[in-house]
Amino acid sequence: MSDLRHLPSVDKLIQSSTGIDWIAEFGRPLAIDAIRVTLDDLRAGFNDGVPLPSQSDLLQMITNKLQYWVVPTLQSVVNASGVIIHTNLGRAPMSKAALQAAQQVSSGYSNLEYDLGKGQRGSRTVHAENLLIKLTGAEAGLVVNNNAAAVLLALSTIANRRRVVIARSQLVEIGGGFRIPDVMKQSGAKLVEIGTTNRVHLRDYQQAFDEQPIKLVMRAHRSNFALVGFTTEPELREIVSAAHAAEIPVLDDLGSGTLLDTSEFGLAREPMVSESLDAGADLVCFSGDKLLGGPQAGIIIGRGELIAKLKKHPLARAVRSDKMALASLSATLTHYLKDEALREIPIWHMISADQLELQERAQDWVTTLKSGKVIPGESTVGGGSLPGESMPTSLLALDVSHPDRFLKRLRENDPPIIGRIQDDMAVFDPRTVFPEQDEILLNGIQTNLGL
Ligand SMILES: *Cc1c(COP(=O)(O)O)cnc(C)c1O
Repeated sequence: MSDLRHLPSVDKLIQSSTGIDWIAEFGRPLAIDAIRVTLDDLRAGFNDGVPLPSQSDLLQMITNKLQYWVVPTLQSVVNASGVIIHTNLGRAPMSKAALQAAQQVSSGYSNLEYDLGKGQRGSRTVHAENLLIKLTGAEAGLVVNNNAAAVLLALSTIANRRRVVIARSQLVEIGGGFRIPDVMKQSGAKLVEIGTTNRVHLRDYQQAFDEQPIKLVMRAHRSNFALVGFTTEPELREIVSAAHAAEIPVLDDLGSGTLLDTSEFGLAREPMVSESLDAGADLVCFSGDKLLGGPQAGIIIGRGELIAKLKKHPLARAVRSDKMALASLSATLTHYLKDEALREIPIWHMISADQLELQERAQDWVTTLKSGKVIPGESTVGGGSLPGESMPTSLLALDVSHPDRFLKRLRENDPPIIGRIQDDMAVFDPRTVFPEQDEILLNGIQTNLGL
């Protein structure tokens, strides 16, 4: 085509046989939109000296535009980074039972807020709450949208326009702009900082209680950094007993929190939910998609009377959990109840993976690829838990000339593959790759090695 007059009209294109295909696949309005936008672009380009495409190229351009518009930008990726709870890659992958539960309650109707026995309105959180009570021994529980919301709800309910004591060493930023002091401000709570950056003593708490009316003591897990050197902090049990003596409740934000003991897997101890309750914390909150290994959720457990107040606060409605999350959270909690978490919950399966098996898988990858070698490396837990901690693993290492460019090409694979660089080589950790993804991973690598 050499002249704008040769460009076919919208009508002509939509009535062509390709146009009929577009309508069938993408619907008429979108097909017409794609034709219009493409023709407009070509006219504008032509006036700037860009030549017009051939008829077949024009059809292809429109098809490409349509496909580009409907392809989901949120897609699954292969995580070969070795970071198990990768915040940028969707945190915890869910178990099969958790997925099935979400599908089952959301593909039809459910008794989400219906008491089947009484035939009347029920509570949406009761399903997960009963499991939480059974698992932890807490008096009551509440599930909200995420842990940030849990903290906001607890502070807003208990400490709005009242003073909350927290140690300076716990005024942390978790990531994604979640800063403890900002959340406090948002809740209307007045921050009373005690101690210094590295050291806080029980007497600092005591002094704050003596000086002014305090409504709540908060403890926040530092999550993504470690405090080392000349440091001290009272035990939670000691803080609780001082606070309770002054009739002040204690909120413990565990961040990740865990129901299983990480020290059994060669890692440091991540604070356990049961420990906080045993120490006497009145409210304990933690994430659903960090070390719990379930869907995005914020879980608050503790004293019945406080939980009841939280449930009634107007914010509770604004931050409530949806049915898919509640269903998959319940299924995840059931894995713990049935003592099958290590087998069924993907992150625990990865954390407890056998070193010899990881080595064999990496070796199998090398054998299949007929390229690369197995080298020792480290996997990490991630998800704002266990900073600086790692687990020995075996990596597939590829000595390519530009590992950064190679990894970039793999990120453009369909589905994208995420590796990392170690010792100037592109490396891939079998720990975080699901065995059913091996073929995708190896095909992607094979294709790009040839480029
Ligand atoms: C991660 C974290 C949060 C936020 O939890 P989300 O579930 O991501 O909203 C809050 N507090 C601490 C200490 C955390 O580590």
